[in-house]
Formats: sequence, C-alpha cells, structure tokens
Amino acid sequence: MKITRVETFLVPPRWMFVRVETDAGLIGWGEPVVEGRAEPVRAAVEVLAEYLLGRDPSRIEDHWQVMTKGGFYRGGPVLSSAVAGLDQALWDIKGKQYGVPVHQLLGGPVRERVRAYSWIGGDEPAEIRDALAAQIEAGFTAVKMNGCGPMTPVATRAEIRDCLRRAETAREVLGDERDFGLDFHGRVSPANARRLLPLLAEHAPMFVEEPVLPDYPHSLPDLVNASSIPLALGERLFTRQEFLAPLQAGVAILQPDISHAGGISELRRIAALAETYGAQLAPHCPLGPIALAASLQVAFTTPNFLIQEQSIGIHYNQDAELLDYVTDPEPFRFQGGSLARTDRPGLGITVDEPAVRAADKKGHAWRNPLWRHADGSFAEW
Ligand SMILES: [Mg+2]
Repeated sequence: MKITRVETFLVPPRWMFVRVETDAGLIGWGEPVVEGRAEPVRAAVEVLAEYLLGRDPSRIEDHWQVMTKGGFYRGGPVLSSAVAGLDQALWDIKGKQYGVPVHQLLGGPVRERVRAYSWIGGDEPAEIRDALAAQIEAGFTAVKMNGCGPMTPVATRAEIRDCLRRAETAREVLGDERDFGLDFHGRVSPANARRLLPLLAEHAPMFVEEPVLPDYPHSLPDLVNASSIPLALGERLFTRQEFLAPLQAGVAILQPDISHAGGISELRRIAALAETYGAQLAPHCPLGPIALAASLQVAFTTPNFLIQEQSIGIHYNQDAELLDYVTDPEPFRFQGGSLARTDRPGLGITVDEPAVRAADKKGHAWRNPLWRHADGSFAEW
C-alpha cells in the first residue's frame, strides 16, 4: 500500500483536518492544528506530505522519526502538531486495514468507558452557577473552568477573592461526589500561584491546570509543595522530553494534546513516562471529532489515564460543533459523563467528508482574544 494524496481542510470554528489517501482506497483522518496558528501548521503538513507521498502508510514509527527529526531542526508547536495530525491519520489507516480499533493495535483495552469533563468557561463568575447546574443535568461528573480573568502579576485582595469565590461556588453546586478542575490558563504569575494554591485547597479541586506559564518550569517544585492540590499541565508542551522536568518537580497530571504533542505515537510514550512517576494522563482536547476520537483510542488502552477533555458545547465554538463533521454521533454519545468503548475500526468514527469539504470552502481565521491590563499593557489570555 502507498500513500497517494494528502489534503488539508481548514474548518470552523478553529480547526484543521488532514485526509490521507492510499492506493488501496483506505482513507485516514487526522487533526493537525494549533488554535490560532492553523495556517503555518497547514504549510508544515504540506512539507511533510512531500516525504510521505508514495510511501507505505504502515511504517508509522519510521515516518514519525523522519517527520519529527529528519529536518534537522525539530520541536515546537507547528511542526509537532503537523506530525501529530499525520500520525493520527496513519493509525486510522492501519486500524481500517486490519479491521480493528487503534486501541487493539496498542495492546488492547484496559477500560470499557472513558470519563470526560465538560468545560464551563468561568470567565463570567455570575454565570458559573447555572453552567454547573446544566452540566450536572447533562450527567457529567466533572467540569473545568477558568480560575480567574486577567490577573495582575501581584494580585489584589479582590482578584484573590474572585478566584476563591469561583472555587467555593463550584464545590457548593457540585457537592462532594463530583469534581472540578480549575484552569489558571497561564494567567497567574508564580507569586500569585503560591498565594492562591494553599487558599484553594479547602475546596479540593481535582487539579489546578497550568498554575503558571510553561515559561516558568523552575517554579514548579515550589508550587507542588505550596498545597495538597494536584497540579496539571502540558497543553503547551510537545514532546516527552519536555514533560520530564514537570514530572521530576512532582506534577501529578499530564495534559498533552494529541493534536500538538506528536499524535497517538507520542501520547503513548508520554503516558508511559508519566507512569514511572505515578502520574496520570488527562489529555487536553478542545478540538474536533478526530482529535477526540484519537484521544479516546489512547484512553481505552492506557492504564494511568484519568479523565478526558472534550469540546462539545465549549464557549469558543460558536460557528460549528464537533458533531457537524461526523455522519454518526454514536461514538460521542455521553452516558453518565462517560464515552463507551466500541470496536469500530481505526479511530472509530466516520468523518462526513462532504461536510468537511463544504466547511473548508468557508474556512476560518480564528485568533485568540488579546487582553490588556488596566494600564494598557499586554495581559495573558
Ligand atoms: Mg488549559
């Protein structure tokens, strides 16, 4: 079998899909994207496709090595995301070739369902209560929300109180049986994180995510020791090498994104690395159906998997939804906040190709919001 064609589709709300065709008629789908930087990823996929065309799609590991390392320069979100999407598509083809789901090729299932959480935003504290109630109503047992808005580098008492109030509200509405994660979104300085974490501990969040930007890995040991709250991070890390220092610092939960961190192949290796530290995998995934399907394949076969992010109903996705691009929503039907394992081949979904082609004609130019502090200076979003 040979790869005969590689196409990319820029689709609303802010995603990109890749379609890899073979001379045997098998098609694989992947989702290579960096939110807000989709165009450079598309260019990177086109460059990598030059190598893949005419080659055997079954040699996934060898292609991963060449795509990741063969250009001499390596790493970073754009290249790693391009490789990630192509890697997903190659696994999809291999699964379809043998008529089995990808998780069977990775060692077989270790669980029958995957717990997921819903995202409720949290940028508007007044809306948190209703949003939490809606997720409970939908059957979810865990949610995630932002812990704060833009925060000054040395927070005021009011900013600290605002963050604590969100956590207090979440715990009050959810009770003790459900969980919430609090995402600091890189908005919180190391000094503010040190102050906030011990104060938040009484509300027992499941985790605090990106307690600080990935720019400050040296502050992680202090932050781990600042409270009993498990720290989570990794959506802006791209290789297993980049996860080593956070693990050594005591970070409890790794959140690589299957569309940024080298795809299914690298996510498996990041999970194995985490296992040696007793750490858990909770993949980041505010993306589309292919990235979620690929994440689920890893979750079904990874022992130290904790919980899956997913984007259905996420507040950024205003023009299109995850289910717009599949012909059968069944693999994404939640029961009690979980998704059940299926034996469908490959990634386990059927992409609605006409819908994808039509959406690509519309395209998108999504960029993340730019925030400013009160004095006019740049603020982390
Ligand atoms: Mg996050």
